[in-house]
Amino acid sequence: MFDIAIIGAGIIGCSIARELSKYNYKTIILDKENDISCGTTKANSAIIHAGYDASYTSKKGIFNARGNMLYDQVTKELDVPFKRIGSLVVAFADEEIDTLKDLLENGNKLEIPGIEIIGPEKIYEMEPNLAEGAIAALYAPSAGIIEPWEMAIAYAENAIENGVELKLNYEVKSINELEDRFEIQSTDGELVDAKIVINAAGVYGDNIYKLVKEDFDFDIHPRRGQYFLLDKSADGLVNSVIFKCPSKLGKGVLVVPTVDGNVLVGPDSEDLENDQKEAIETTADRLSFVRENAVKLVKNIPFRENITTFSGLRAEPSNGDFIIEESEVKNFINVIGIKSPGLSSAPAIAEYIEKMVVDKLGDSEVKEDYNPTRRPRIKFMELSEEEKEEMIKKDPRYGRIICRCEMITEGEIVDAIHRCAGGRTINGIKRRVRPGAGRCQGGFCGPRVLEILARELEISPLDVKHEGKDSTILVGNTKN
Ligand SMILES: Cc1cc2nc3c(=O)[nH]c(=O)nc-3n(C[C@H](O)[C@H](O)[C@H](O)COP(=O)(O)OP(=O)(O)OC[C@H]3O[C@@H](n4cnc5c(N)ncnc54)[C@H](O)[C@@H]3O)c2cc1C
Repeated sequence: MFDIAIIGAGIIGCSIARELSKYNYKTIILDKENDISCGTTKANSAIIHAGYDASYTSKKGIFNARGNMLYDQVTKELDVPFKRIGSLVVAFADEEIDTLKDLLENGNKLEIPGIEIIGPEKIYEMEPNLAEGAIAALYAPSAGIIEPWEMAIAYAENAIENGVELKLNYEVKSINELEDRFEIQSTDGELVDAKIVINAAGVYGDNIYKLVKEDFDFDIHPRRGQYFLLDKSADGLVNSVIFKCPSKLGKGVLVVPTVDGNVLVGPDSEDLENDQKEAIETTADRLSFVRENAVKLVKNIPFRENITTFSGLRAEPSNGDFIIEESEVKNFINVIGIKSPGLSSAPAIAEYIEKMVVDKLGDSEVKEDYNPTRRPRIKFMELSEEEKEEMIKKDPRYGRIICRCEMITEGEIVDAIHRCAGGRTINGIKRRVRPGAGRCQGGFCGPRVLEILARELEISPLDVKHEGKDSTILVGNTKN
């Protein structure tokens, strides 16, 4: 029997698992997909928000402010690139100044460091490509950018290195509440028993809660956001995170550099029905909306340098705030409705749940052999010439470039497959080491990555998937 079963291997489930891996508890993460980070965590704006936006009285505000502060340490320990590039909320009309003042006041209550309202001269000095007519902006130096899926994978790897188990392809179908434990059953009939269940199932959080509690007074519906991702040739278009003044529907369309040097433009905000929790397609009309709004914010956006479009689903709770509490069912903890700024808040949410679980299970001693650091991943192109030569001598696979857009070597891909919780699909490898993330989007390297996956996993190339379990790439031989 497990002490704790966490349902959901997104940023929330993985960050909680890592914090709990400090103790002598038996913990398992369950996810219906074939990889970590296949839900909302893989498709968002990738911003570690400063935290002035959500009300100082809300869970979103409190966890965001604390989470942002924890990011320096956690990204250092887990070897995940994180850049504090700062953010600007820009006012283009007099009536928006009051919104900036409100944000500043709220941010001061949450003790967000260094926030101030700045005038046009400083704004254009910082962001020469900003659209004409900016009159003021709220500047927040502590806002940052990150690769969200890498953060979740790093949390999971470190949790596993410290003894947590991960079970993928495990779709929770039913949960039976027994006297001293929960009996969880998957769609394949596999049983997992645990004393405590942590529901971190993202947009499916209400569906999972329904398995133990018939009636409750909230639901979680998907709110979709769509994006353009521009090629690295657009790098330098903006230097910080650029927002318009927020509206009721959220922070609106923004323009932001990514940690890897691309530029992200989006998202819109579209409420979907409750039965559309897999609707991650993009649509021409919503992308046009994004485009029209983005050019009002930043000029000269090179949309012809767009390399892909994508969308993500916010887990929109009907009460508007994160749901982070032991539910009405004892030992069943909901960590759901974690919409934006969930990524920014994750380290603080994990810290809070850690305390809650330790209070319940006792045995609060941190294990002697707990290791908070993750084995760093080799980024071959960032090595010095001498280090590169040394690496190739040790393992010639580091001398073979597989992805020419991102300059990724075979050695890095093989490592991504064989690390704990290694990638098993084309997109799983892309999320870990970026082959296919560049301009050609895998047009050239995709078949090579497929071959390497088949070889290293000793499976047929026909069984290598693009992403989910039904995303077949090859269907058979064309010649004998
Ligand atoms: C458009 C958009 C922009 C955003 N921008 C930002 C931003 O810039 N900064 C920020 O801080 N936040 C942002 N967010 C919010 C952030 O992405 C989320 O808060 C965060 O990713 C939520 O993580 P999660 O782990 O709760 O959910 P998920 O990542 O969705 O993980 C839930 C997991 O549960 C699994 N699951 C579901 N049902 C089952 C089942 N029956 N059995 C087993 N497993 C199951 C899923 O497969 C999934 O892996 C944005 C969100 C969107 C959509």
